[in-house]
Amino acid sequence: MSHFETQAIRTQMERTAFQEHSNPLFLTSSFVFDDAEDMRASFAEEKERAIYSRFTNPNTSELVDKMCLLEGAEAGYAFATGMAAVFSTFAALLKSGDHILSCRSVFGSTHGLFTRYLPKWNINTTYFGADQVDQLDDFVLPETKILYVETPTNPAIEILDLEFLGQFARERGLLFVVDNCFATPYLQRPIDFGAHLVIHSATKLIDGQGRVLGGITVGQKDLIREIYLFARNTGPALSPFNAWVLSKSLETLAVRVEKHCDNAEILATRLEEHSSIKRVKYPFLDSHPSSEIARKQMKRGGNIVAFELAGGLEVGREFLNKIALCSLSANLGDTRTIVTHPASTTHSKLSSEERLQVGITDGLVRMSVGLEHVEDIWTDLLQALNN
Ligand SMILES: *Cc1c(COP(=O)(O)O)cnc(C)c1O
Repeated sequence: MSHFETQAIRTQMERTAFQEHSNPLFLTSSFVFDDAEDMRASFAEEKERAIYSRFTNPNTSELVDKMCLLEGAEAGYAFATGMAAVFSTFAALLKSGDHILSCRSVFGSTHGLFTRYLPKWNINTTYFGADQVDQLDDFVLPETKILYVETPTNPAIEILDLEFLGQFARERGLLFVVDNCFATPYLQRPIDFGAHLVIHSATKLIDGQGRVLGGITVGQKDLIREIYLFARNTGPALSPFNAWVLSKSLETLAVRVEKHCDNAEILATRLEEHSSIKRVKYPFLDSHPSSEIARKQMKRGGNIVAFELAGGLEVGREFLNKIALCSLSANLGDTRTIVTHPASTTHSKLSSEERLQVGITDGLVRMSVGLEHVEDIWTDLLQALNN
């Protein structure tokens, strides 16, 4: 089972007595024991078996096993949402006084966690820019425990060098944690570059069809053990139903992501030639400042394309109003193409200076390219651009 597609399709829980072909759904809160000794030994973890679905469930375990294979990880735990995975990972591994070093451009709620909530427990974060990676030593404190990055970043599509950061973390004894949501394990495997833990919002490309929320952290066994114990006691577990949906979705991840990339490459190239567009950001365009790093660590460029309209805030809003086929929605990684205007929505609470620091100009549009026929997406974009 050496290939990605085969692992994603053929990793499956043990069949039940019914010999079902597709994986069954175990909607059960708890599991029964044969006798008092079975129950004692199970709680003592002398045997590996399901006890209660907050701890494990056959559906969540199948999803975790599959993601571990795909990411090259030893162990994992599945969460109700991507943010539950991000929060629980930090909460389980850090203590008061510890410090996080993070790339500046991070998902909005992760930024909220770093700036509003973790400081309540005296855990502070310092941001570095994607262009400051070569001065990273200046940012490391004696208390620094975790080096955290997203790549590609949202929504500015910056690329961080995983090989360099993996080596940096190893030399300084830091835990290297990567949010691999935009790339998926099909395009990028951070553990191969030295990441200790990889986090996903499974809500995005792993579900890929805009149906369920989910999150997962995979990586080094001893770290996952700490995260598991934290989650087991605090309750952010993934629902078995969502795990069943997500495990099934992983069976088609490779073909979906290939097609997402086909469409995104065509649209990025055409947008770059359009006169109303100042700049297109897509990891595999030669014009991307880090395209060489992207090609080193990613198989293809992914499905997120950002572009800057000549004009500014109002032009960005007008463009969105003229979009007819594509959706205006907060999700990404769906079969449906989604366009957003970060400056007036997700990042409107930041000052324009703060927005610029994370690469968001007033005319920036972020597009999550879907699986519709590429000519229909292009026709929609063209009519919105030309009006
Ligand atoms: C969406 C997202 C998250 C949060 O995931 P939820 O499932 O919405 O909680 C975290 N990181 C990145 C990069 C995301 O895009």
